[in-house]
Amino acid sequence: MTISRSRKWREQGERLARLARDAPSVYFPEPYPGEALYSIIARLRQHTGMTHSTFSWSVFGEEIRVFAINLPFRIQAVARRIPDRMALDSKTIAVRHTGFPYYTAYMDNALKKRVLTEMIGTDGNAVRTAGARARPVTNTDFLRFCAECNMEAVRKYGEAYWRQVHQLPIVTICPDHGLDLQKSSLPNGFIKSFATTGEDTCPPRAPTVIPRNAPVDRTLLFQLALDARELQQGIYPKVAPKNYRAAQFKTMLGKAGILTPRGYIRYDRFHEDVDRVLNGLLPVFPELRQGSVAGPWILRFREGKAGHHPDRTLLLAHALERLAA
Ligand SMILES: [Zn+2]
Repeated sequence: MTISRSRKWREQGERLARLARDAPSVYFPEPYPGEALYSIIARLRQHTGMTHSTFSWSVFGEEIRVFAINLPFRIQAVARRIPDRMALDSKTIAVRHTGFPYYTAYMDNALKKRVLTEMIGTDGNAVRTAGARARPVTNTDFLRFCAECNMEAVRKYGEAYWRQVHQLPIVTICPDHGLDLQKSSLPNGFIKSFATTGEDTCPPRAPTVIPRNAPVDRTLLFQLALDARELQQGIYPKVAPKNYRAAQFKTMLGKAGILTPRGYIRYDRFHEDVDRVLNGLLPVFPELRQGSVAGPWILRFREGKAGHHPDRTLLLAHALERLAA
């Protein structure tokens, strides 16, 4: 790439971003309910037909390569491009159109604020700060979709879109339709592949996230999807209220018979028991069982580092509820 070409893209991008802010009728897609920011940007690209570089400069204020769909960064740069009439500021975008509400649900306010700051700006790494990649539920490799959600959106709006809740790794079944989510052909994370939903990216025969005919605990997988949808909407599920780790975790351990008379955790039993009740999730989340005992993720739950992780909180809360029953 020559310097003059890259300068040309930069100048074009900056001009477009300026226009977008000031001109009264410049186009920006109206976000759909539950739409991922990734999806809004992908539609903008499709509707305007910009090349990758001009597009990247105009939307992000620089040429970027990666974009974490659940906890993206540079939101302020995107917000600057949105016409004032749409009243979409950075925080509103993070809360409505990213995985921010889910990943920060059990965090203390200081950490929550730091994650938000890193998502809005250019410094730091919100994915790392939030511990979002922590086991036992690992990152998704491809964007996910629900065939019924897509059809409904086409009927209602004339086009389908990527839904944020479907991109959370713990969500394997559509919480709205109970259908297995499918893996699109779009790899997660790379801006060059920014694309909208369609026959090519979401073919009807795309593989399901839950391996077909796998002996899975569908009841629990569906419940986890419902819980994740609630957290995305700022609601705490019954199984794990806001103060779960501090207030209820120990009580539930007692009810599950995993505490000694003096109140210590019987780790010998704990790991085995949790393993047993979460067994039906292993075909989808193989890292639930890791190492000699049920996995260091359980031990780390009570410690600071990634102990606030919503996947861990929900999994342990359901495990203990089953053990206490
Ligand atoms: Zn659906």
